[in-house]
Parts: sequence; C-alpha cells; structure tokens
Amino acid sequence: MVAVLDNKHIDAIMASLMDGIITFDGKGHIIMANKAAENLFLVREGGLEGKTMLEIGDDDIFAMIEEVLMRGNEVFAETVIQPRTQIYRVHVMPIKNDAREIEGAVAVFRDVTDARNFDQMRSEFVGNVSHELRTPLTSIKGFVETLLDGAMENSAICRRFLSIIDAETERLSRLIEDLLSLSSIESKERIINPKPVCLIRSIRSVMNILGPQISEKSLHVEFICDAQLSLILADEDLLNQVLINLLDNAIKYTPRQGKIIIRSRQRDSRVITTFTDTGMGIPHESLPRVFERFYRVDKARSRHQGGTGLGLAIVKHIVESHGGEVFVESEVGRGSTFGVSFLVV
Ligand code: ADP
Repeated sequence: MVAVLDNKHIDAIMASLMDGIITFDGKGHIIMANKAAENLFLVREGGLEGKTMLEIGDDDIFAMIEEVLMRGNEVFAETVIQPRTQIYRVHVMPIKNDAREIEGAVAVFRDVTDARNFDQMRSEFVGNVSHELRTPLTSIKGFVETLLDGAMENSAICRRFLSIIDAETERLSRLIEDLLSLSSIESKERIINPKPVCLIRSIRSVMNILGPQISEKSLHVEFICDAQLSLILADEDLLNQVLINLLDNAIKYTPRQGKIIIRSRQRDSRVITTFTDTGMGIPHESLPRVFERFYRVDKARSRHQGGTGLGLAIVKHIVESHGGEVFVESEVGRGSTFGVSFLVV
C-alpha cells in the first residue's frame, strides 16, 4: 500500500523546517507560513496569513513576489530582514497549474549569516597574510636593489643593509612558523598529547630560554607560586609555546629596567598563571581584540619588535584546546596582566 501525505504530515514537515517558507496566492497574499517564517517576521501563529509582503513592511520581498507572479521566473536575493541583523538568502519560485499558468509563489528564507561571516573572515585573513608577507619582502627587495646598484662597494653600508635583510628574513620565517602552528592547532591536525606536567619547571625553563632578552633590557623578572601546586594536564611543547609567547610579549612591551611578575596559584581544579608587567599597557577599547589574529595596538611598534601579530591568537587557541581560559587586564601607562588557566591532573 502506498501511504499518502495528508495535511497533518505536511504541517509537521513545515513546522520542523529550519528555513522559513511562505506560500502566496496569485495576487501576492500569503496563504500559509511555517513557524520559522513567523519567527523571522516576529509575528504570532497565523499572523502572516492573508497579508501581502507590503503590509508586513518588506518592500524588497514584495517586489520579488510581484516579479515572480508577473514573469513566472525564479528569483534569488540576499537580504537583511529588519529589525534583525542576520543575512537571509531568499529564493522565490512560481507555482503553476497543469495549464502552466501562474497560480502563486513560494518563498524560502535561509539564514546564511554564518557562511557569509566565514567568507568575510577568510578573505580578511588572506588579505592580512598577504600584507604581512609583502611588507618584509618589499623591504628585502629594496635593500638588495640598492646593494646591487653600488652600495655594496661600501663595506659599512653593505654590512648594515645585510643585517636589515637578515632581520626581515627572520621575521618572514617567524611569520610562516606562526601561521603553520596556528593552522595546525585550528584544524586539529596537531594532536594534543596532554600529560601531567610540572608548571613550575616549565616556567623556570622558559625564563632561562628568554634570559638573554631579559638581561639585555635589564628587566627584573620574579616568579611567585603557591607552595603546593598540583601538576597540570598539558601538552608540554604547546604549554611552552604559551609561556614563551606571554613572557616574550611582557619583555617586548616593557621599557628597560621594568618589572615582570609571573604568578601561579591553584583555584579548585585549575592552576591560573598570570604575567604582570610594568609596560606601556593596552587601551581599554583594544582589550577585547588583542587575542584576534593580526590585531596590534601599535602596528609600527609591534613590527619594530619583530612581532607577527599572531602570538596571542596562538596562546588562546592552545589554552582553549586544553579546556582552559585566557584573560587580560591592563591600564595604559601602568602595565598589563595576561592570564591563562590549565586543568590540574
Ligand atoms: P605581536 O607579535 O604584535 O606581539 P601578539 O598577538 O603577541 O602579537 O600581541 C598582539 C598585540 O597585543 C601586540 O601587537 C601589542 O599591541 C599587544 N600586547 C600584547 N602583549 C602586550 C603586553 N604585555 N603589553 C602591552 N601590549 C601588549
């Protein structure tokens, strides 16, 4: 026996659809709208029926329905339906009878906001990466050309230009390394291998690694921690990357003879580590953005320090992929505190 769909089935199907669906008669009056469409236009159940899109207050969609009813072709558009901020893809198709005459129309509304935001983020990212790669390349090219044009005959100038080229090449390779590490964590390609780790040992080792930069700026770096600190669960290499990026920033953005305090304390099932510096600080309005890729408060200063603008984005990804959190507090002219939390074993 072949089962036939009755109205009950059709109503259930319409109600379960995520897309908004509205059907119109030949004059553009609404015959039926599903729940998603009613939500979309912020009306109660049955509130759309009998009305035209003009009465509902959407001139653009009214014009689309008119066109379909008049010409019998399908039309598509992407639109923001007021007062919402989501982007909807609207597809209107004619409904024809057996004699192929236009009897009405059906409009389907699909929320494409996430897809559009993703497209925009992707193109912004590609734009940023290209810009970041082009800047050092342009500078390298300029210095090489000047050297070839004769500057290399002067050995002092030659040495100075070569050391700039060396620094720019270094920055390019750091940028590519940061991009690869961000993409491998984001794409989950880099398998996180959490093991019990002694955070105190990792912090001491990172302080040693960055020892030369610390002494070069005559900074005073202190490490204070709870007497009893549990082991944390972390991938040791990734944890080191987090600690290096945070200490490296504290060093970079703190003037000579400044102070950096690293504190680790246990709160229930987490160990919270903070890096407090007496550096330049970050303006209040920039705080929510510092963990974004390529966001820099002061572009020139970051570049001058050899920054890639990716360090904090990497920190955030690594910490969150371990189930932890990142935070920042800062006051311009007084200093900043960056914090990360990791789960204890
Ligand atoms: P960068 O490579 O530019 O240092 P990050 O992602 O590590 O990139 O940091 C993003 C931006 O946040 C920096 O350019 C800087 O403006 C700001 N920032 C990060 N750490 C500090 C800090 N300790 N003090 C002041 N500003 C900071």
